[in-house]
Amino acid sequence: MNVENLLRDNIKTIKAYSSARDEYKDASADMIFIDANENPFQTNVNRYPDPQQSKVKERLAEIKGVSISQILLGNGSDEVLDLIFRAFCEPKRDNVITLPPTYGMYSVLADLNDTEIKQVYLDEGFEPKVGKILETQNDNSKLLFLCSPNNPTANSFNKQKVETLIRGFKGVVVIDEAYIDFSEQQSWVSRLDEFPNLIVTQTLSKAYGLAGIRLGICYASEFIISVLNKIKPPYNVNQLTQEKALERLSRINEVEKEVSVILEQRRLLQNALETISFVESLYASDANFILAKVDDANKRYSELIAKGIVVRNRTTQPLCENCLRFTVGTNIENEKLIKVLNEL
Ligand SMILES: *Cc1c(COP(=O)(O)O)cnc(C)c1O
Repeated sequence: MNVENLLRDNIKTIKAYSSARDEYKDASADMIFIDANENPFQTNVNRYPDPQQSKVKERLAEIKGVSISQILLGNGSDEVLDLIFRAFCEPKRDNVITLPPTYGMYSVLADLNDTEIKQVYLDEGFEPKVGKILETQNDNSKLLFLCSPNNPTANSFNKQKVETLIRGFKGVVVIDEAYIDFSEQQSWVSRLDEFPNLIVTQTLSKAYGLAGIRLGICYASEFIISVLNKIKPPYNVNQLTQEKALERLSRINEVEKEVSVILEQRRLLQNALETISFVESLYASDANFILAKVDDANKRYSELIAKGIVVRNRTTQPLCENCLRFTVGTNIENEKLIKVLNEL
């Protein structure tokens, strides 16, 4: 497979903007910097940030076992996903395939990029319908989004099905691993070298506890990363975000501890939800949230709001009729939730 052929024509030949800090890289050098029209007086952030976020990438490369040239960082996964659209999808001509019920941003970004969406619903067990997906693709199908663990269903997709899709899809397969740190499955990052058409996205917004700093991560072949690098805004990850990310990534043992507490809390919450009379089914979770089918989602949602608890009502999503999504909170929050549910 030649991924270059999948790129939009304008992207194949595009020239990257060259910023001052690209031309003279070593911002820590003992030099007089009068190349970027910055204010020379110190505010700690008076200088433009590293456009390549080298320190953050070095740390991520170490943790994930990939090379720095296989990493691109963005202002949240949302920016990363948008860059992928811009690189591959010719507006009004190309299409992408999504598998509802899933993360809402794929269709928002498709609309924004004037790209047709072909939807192939998950099956009753929330697994991809592999044959149907491969039949649905055509020569203009550029992206296939696989969210695993999937939001809002919380399950990870069967590994063999995912592999068949990566091998059978003629475009680029984007595996969204926003919840991978809670999962028992191995990340597809470890298989990047086998598949030139594979992109894996992750984020510091969930397990890493840094939703507020907006840091999304894209792992792919060196070629795909070089293309996305050319089209990203030059200073897309700000200085404060880079510092905060680095600080957290240098203490991943804390993240691991929090994740294990969350997983233990998930187990307790799951057990408690099973005993609630109006919970009709509970779906197995491989993430930090639980999807539950209740008797009347709109009614239960409002009742919970009245008691000061905000859950996500997913009842309008395909296959999610009367489903509520519960994020696993602290033990105190979960106990309060269970107490309130029992009182309803
Ligand atoms: C929360 C979430 C993200 C995270 O997006 P950011 O922009 O990085 O905060 C990505 N994908 C899915 C499926 C999510 O649920």
